[in-house]
Amino acid sequence: MQCRTHIAFGVAVSTAMVHTGDIKTILITIAGATIGSAIPDLDSYNSELSQILNKITGIIVATITICLAITYILKIDILDKIVQYKNVTNILIGILLFLFISILGSNTKHRTFMHSLLCVGIYYLILSIFLSQSFAVPFTVGMLSHILLDLLNHIGVGLFCPFTEKRFCLDLCASNGVVNKVLFYVSVVFICIIRAIA
Ligand SMILES: [Zn+2]
Repeated sequence: MQCRTHIAFGVAVSTAMVHTGDIKTILITIAGATIGSAIPDLDSYNSELSQILNKITGIIVATITICLAITYILKIDILDKIVQYKNVTNILIGILLFLFISILGSNTKHRTFMHSLLCVGIYYLILSIFLSQSFAVPFTVGMLSHILLDLLNHIGVGLFCPFTEKRFCLDLCASNGVVNKVLFYVSVVFICIIRAIA
């Protein structure tokens, strides 16, 4: 399926699970579902997401370099100051672990580790422990919805990678055919209806 279909479907499923009109909760749900439903295709070399990941990694490496330079040149230990704030430290550890798994996954074969249940579990643990449960849940729903849609076509998904190389598929439709288009528009309409009546 196309990236926009994965995102629309993931957001539709996640927002259907939100039973509140609280705008903050809805925005966190949409953000989590959007990233979660797009992230498995980081393993696709041409995906826009892997190009964004490269940029983010570059920014983080530059930031760490600047922090180290400030520490040694100006004798101000920025890391020490950050560690004093436990929440900030947790968030930083979470972001670094998240990036580590994402970079690792982006270098694996398409539809293997990044589309496995193990990967879903690792992301869920990182996000729920170091960031927030309210972000981790829609992110996980988004990832699972992506894997479910990929199961529909003949290419197959390495659900239990790295324990087995066996790929699973339902072979019901093409990844960029009519079903892809229908799913996208139905999901968008569904999101509009569910938000209108919430
Ligand atoms: Zn995929």
